[in-house]
Amino acid sequence: MVHKLGIIGYGGMGEWHHKNVRDRVDGLEVVAAFDVRPERLELAKENGLRAHTSLEEILADKEVTMITIATPNNFHKDLAISAMRAGKHVVCEKPVTMDAAELEEIIAVKKETGLTFAVHQNRRWDKDFRIVKAALEQNLIGKPFYIESRVQGSGGVLHGWRGAKVNGGGMLYDWGIHLIDQLMWLIDSPVVELMADLKYVHHTECDDNFKLYMTFGNGLTAHVQVDTYCFIPLPRWQVHGDEATLVVKDWACNGKIVRAKDDGTVWEESIVYTEAGPTRTMAPRRKETIQEDPLPTVQTDWSDYYKNILDVINNGAELIVKPEQSLRVMKVIDAAFESARLGKSVSGPF
Ligand code: NAD
Repeated sequence: MVHKLGIIGYGGMGEWHHKNVRDRVDGLEVVAAFDVRPERLELAKENGLRAHTSLEEILADKEVTMITIATPNNFHKDLAISAMRAGKHVVCEKPVTMDAAELEEIIAVKKETGLTFAVHQNRRWDKDFRIVKAALEQNLIGKPFYIESRVQGSGGVLHGWRGAKVNGGGMLYDWGIHLIDQLMWLIDSPVVELMADLKYVHHTECDDNFKLYMTFGNGLTAHVQVDTYCFIPLPRWQVHGDEATLVVKDWACNGKIVRAKDDGTVWEESIVYTEAGPTRTMAPRRKETIQEDPLPTVQTDWSDYYKNILDVINNGAELIVKPEQSLRVMKVIDAAFESARLGKSVSGPF
């Protein structure tokens, strides 16, 4: 069956959904859009969609079987519930809601209606993330004990509603949710404790830089960092295992895995004199004792997100981005705001 998609919120991301689905997903046709701004409706029309001027109108559109919600974050909950009550399957942009309690309301309606509901955590298909996932699955660095995941820009601006608290602005909601979702999907263990530090460097209402430190039940710790005002970025990923260290430097996925060469070299017993004076533990290794390997190769495609949704609806396949997983992520977001407010760590499990 070919499903027909209607998009609520035809802004930057709404238009991206339209074009991504149109060009790369078979079995799903984008037919309609609703936006509160007339100029975006005009664009939707120019792009060949039926432009609905109210929520009621798009939900009454009988041809539409699925809705994608791409409005600012504070509208997601009511729109998702209304769409499911109108009998539509729903894909909702991230962050799915303003807090975990709102998502619980959505999940109750999803259960009641039996429809498919999923959050658009498209960054589970990012190449940099899939490389880290593959490296851990293939045991290329031994047992991981620290993971650092960062995105750092230097624009210093939260555009439009992203700077407004009422709309769910700020970087913890915007990028934090992606990085947290990736880690919680990657690591099969609950988050037992976290500590968040939100900064308001150029904005007063919403965090524009933050750090989050998460401890998992299996002992692994993760450092998540999002900056909008950083001119000297650190690697996108650095993963420390008990056999090797992995770095993915950037979105172009430059990087390597570095380990000690198993050549029987005995590490110096005596003290080493460096530019910083004498040291044993921090002395640089000699080059011939180190082995550098390339990162694993991965194939990944963002359109697989929608292909999975269609497979769930048409064939009863397993949903990849499960609402229950999104609920755990929202609980971590709630706890991170709480930790920043209190200025101390907050305990799970989440
Ligand atoms: P945007 O401002 O470009 O677009 C939002 C659109 O929603 C606007 O055109 C606005 O007029 C419309 N709108 C506002 N309130 C509405 C309402 N009540 N009903 C209908 N339309 C309404 O914002 P954006 O960057 O496209 O972000 C939209 C959503 O997509 C956000 O939740 C954001 O977090 C998410 N997003 C996700 C990704 C991703 O990679 N998954 C990337 C960017 C944005």
